[in-house]
Amino acid sequence: MASKKNEQGERQVLDWLTAQQPAMVALLETLVNTDSGSYDKAGVDAVGAHIRNFLRGYGIATDVTPDVRFGDAIVARIEQTEGPASNRPILLMGHRDTVFPKGEPQRRPFKIEDGKAYGPGVADMKAGLVMNCFVLAAMKQFGGAPAPVTGLFTGDEEIGSPFSRKVIEQHASGARAVFNSEPGRPGDGVVTGRKGGMFMRFEIAGKAAHSGANFEVGISAINELAHKTLALNALTDLKRGITLNVGVVSGGQTVNTVAPWAKGEVDLRFITRADRDETMAKVEAIMAKSYVPGTTAKLEITGDFLPLVENADGKALYDHYAAGMRDIGGDPKPLFTGGCADSGFAQATGAPTICAVGPIGGRVHSPDEYLEIDSLVPRAQALALAIMRLPVEGQMK
Ligand SMILES: [Zn+2]
Repeated sequence: MASKKNEQGERQVLDWLTAQQPAMVALLETLVNTDSGSYDKAGVDAVGAHIRNFLRGYGIATDVTPDVRFGDAIVARIEQTEGPASNRPILLMGHRDTVFPKGEPQRRPFKIEDGKAYGPGVADMKAGLVMNCFVLAAMKQFGGAPAPVTGLFTGDEEIGSPFSRKVIEQHASGARAVFNSEPGRPGDGVVTGRKGGMFMRFEIAGKAAHSGANFEVGISAINELAHKTLALNALTDLKRGITLNVGVVSGGQTVNTVAPWAKGEVDLRFITRADRDETMAKVEAIMAKSYVPGTTAKLEITGDFLPLVENADGKALYDHYAAGMRDIGGDPKPLFTGGCADSGFAQATGAPTICAVGPIGGRVHSPDEYLEIDSLVPRAQALALAIMRLPVEGQMK
């Protein structure tokens, strides 16, 4: 438990965060109304500019790692003020991109109804960005963190972090704790485990022929796609949490042509790296095999998300975080989800990692996405307590 001095410091931070609720909502409105689909670099960077502005107002400098295609990565760092020197930072993560098409905030701007906020990305995860900003501001003003605190704001998570992955790995590597502020789940849920995922595209080449005059000369890519689809489906093993979904297919030329081409997209989900490797070997074998003689296929990986594995480090970090949340009246629960996030990349570097510590929301990636306004302050407080109460280096139980 905290000492008297620490208790006073904690009280100061908790009270300040409570008083910031209107400012949190105002920043959230600004971020939601700034259009930032993953492929809209200018928009994602505009959200970044608002964040940098906010942090600058509290004397927090930011570094930018630029990218030409996707949103730049922004890094803020609060130096350690308490306890024995430690260079292993605490990392707070969040992504600025959304899944929505350009113009969505104009069509569907930020609004509040019955204690819930609505708008594109309001929960996933602009509220998490706001929370991280205010927690960084609190640490900067009042101190109390037993290690440097790094805030990482990336811009391409919804498409698998093609650019940011290496920046995440760089900052997570050696971090003593990583908190990813994806939306918290209704009922104080925090995510301690996530599946990993692979997005793939496959293309099959056959041979065109007139389906009446020269049927036997043709080689049907569509028939091959049907065989491959069934073979991929057969790899699903629900007990082990392995699923394969052929979610998109297309192919063929005309109704009276034997199909010269066909293509499909597959989403593979898994819980462990071993399951991923084993299943991928089988997927590759299915692609290499010609069920219809004469067809060929090629496979392209378009997304590669690592799982958040439920390990001892993650459990210890969750228990630590949950204890603070209980102290402010919360009732936290650890959850496992099939959805992927950047926390998998962070954990794979060896850092203790938990996810969905952001403000609570739901129906993400849909027009009904909402954020529970009343969760902004307690979630920020729980995160601040988790940071301030991290034990002295090396003594994490
Ligand atoms: Zn997200």
